[in-house]
Amino acid sequence: MGHPVEHSLSPAIHTAFAEQTGHKLRYLAIDVRDRFEPAVREFFAAGGRGLNVTIPHKGAAYTLADDVSMGARVARAVNTLHLGPDCRLVGDNTDGPGLVRDLKNNLGLPLVGRRVLLVGAGGAASGVIASLFGAGIATLVVANRTVARAENLAENFSGFGDIRGTGFDGIGDDPYDVVINATPLGRSDEVVPVPTGAVRGATCYDMVYTPDPTAFCRWAAQQGAAACYGGLGMLVEQAAESYRIWHGVRPDTAPVIERMRQVLAGR
Ligand code: NAP
Repeated sequence: MGHPVEHSLSPAIHTAFAEQTGHKLRYLAIDVRDRFEPAVREFFAAGGRGLNVTIPHKGAAYTLADDVSMGARVARAVNTLHLGPDCRLVGDNTDGPGLVRDLKNNLGLPLVGRRVLLVGAGGAASGVIASLFGAGIATLVVANRTVARAENLAENFSGFGDIRGTGFDGIGDDPYDVVINATPLGRSDEVVPVPTGAVRGATCYDMVYTPDPTAFCRWAAQQGAAACYGGLGMLVEQAAESYRIWHGVRPDTAPVIERMRQVLAGR
């Protein structure tokens, strides 16, 4: 559920998971516009098993949930809902586990002891910070256009490790090990104003997924980044985590990532 949802790959991803695990299910992209809460209530009243929540309703889902996981609580954002015991609405956030699994397992990127730059301080950024620290990163700088949002995130997550919030002018020109773009700018030709030195030699990651490298990835490659990856792997991994919550089994993601790459390329 979200708005807009018409370009969502999630129905194709969950259909591919179901083919693999032998479950019979229908996963639909539901455009709820501003009718989020009644749509959730109707969904579960009609027997729905579980649902994902996307822009702009992750904060509303967090407020609506009766119980939330630790990851959702610190992020104050929910992207996965299901009914728990006594029909209580349970909220999780699978973005963080999805990103970390893509970085570590699919891309073979070690995170322990790494200096990480996270660009953006919206719902996606807040959803991944706890998981990045959980994976053992050494330091995290959160840089955002609206500086106060980055500073607030750094304060909220100060208990997790060495974290600093700043505007783009506070990033510094020293290289980071990993640079993650958590803004939607990859969809346009605009690039976030990250200093060149910050990405030189770094492994870069753009949460946006497009058939071709995003503007951020093209720019990072020109500045001497070691590599830059798009967010398709994260999308499939966070979906697999939701699938595990709803159905008790985690599908094999590698063939589905490959299949979604082809679906994306065909669009
Ligand atoms: P959001 O809550 O709306 O936050 C957007 C962030 O981007 C904010 O930090 C915002 O800065 C920044 N931003 C927007 N326009 C900008 C501009 N012109 N210049 C500089 N900064 C700008 O969105 P979100 O939920 O965090 O999602 C961010 C992106 O991640 C989306 O494209 C989403 O599709 C993607 N995503 C991908 C996955 C995946 O599985 N691959 C999962 C989650 C999200 P301000 O605070 O200054 O407005």
